[in-house]
Amino acid sequence: MRKKIVAGNWKMNLDLDEGAELVNEIFKGLPVLSENCQVVIAPPFIHLKETGEQLTGMIDVHLGAQNCHHESSGAYTGEVSAGMLKSAGVEYVIIGHSERREYMKEDDAMLAKKVNQALTNGLKVIFCCGEPLEIRDNNTQNTYVESEIKAGLFHLSEKQLNNIVLAYEPIWAIGTGRTATSEQAQDMHAHIRSVIANQYGEDAAYAISILYGGSCKPSNADELFACPDVDGGLIGGAALKAKDFLGIIEAMANS
Ligand code: PEP
Repeated sequence: MRKKIVAGNWKMNLDLDEGAELVNEIFKGLPVLSENCQVVIAPPFIHLKETGEQLTGMIDVHLGAQNCHHESSGAYTGEVSAGMLKSAGVEYVIIGHSERREYMKEDDAMLAKKVNQALTNGLKVIFCCGEPLEIRDNNTQNTYVESEIKAGLFHLSEKQLNNIVLAYEPIWAIGTGRTATSEQAQDMHAHIRSVIANQYGEDAAYAISILYGGSCKPSNADELFACPDVDGGLIGGAALKAKDFLGIIEAMANS
């Protein structure tokens, strides 16, 4: 059975005290989860050690990072390597988030290298894909998302794919309050699974978790997570409030 995952991406929010308080509140409210459910918390780099210590003993909650560099080490001032993340106890890394593609100009070739760095260093990858509004308006979202997946992941072996989680995040829904309908989400997730099936076979496609991201909140999570190809969510804004994040975790647990 493939994993259901709710991953919280804090982005560039919360100082150390605020982050510790949030993790504490999540800890207090966390429901009992079945074996196939996981929670990931991806705070800014500076939080990782402390958050990791807080997560010790919370077996269902895993530590994630929001990025890693595409080289293993060297003169890259201000950057953090996948090996450093691993040494800090990180298990997952988000790669290809639309904000990094847009603001940091991370292109397909760089993202493929980041994926390699992450896997080589024993990290699991949450690989993001998703179309901007004009592509959705032209109804060309399927080919757009397919090309992001091909460029970022298709050099991997089937074995390596076991350490990849996909996150479909329509850019027009990220932080906008506008959510994809459950029908739009399901259609795209089914398409993504067929893209994986064509390259890696039905078993690999069945096994890979595909998360939905884009203004997911407790009030819409039940409906989104009820879709057969939606295996949880990558959560931005709603991951910053314990009550909302816990509500989304509940929705995953009940789906
Ligand atoms: C995100 O940035 O990954 C995201 C899904 O953000 P939000 O939930 O705020 O739309």
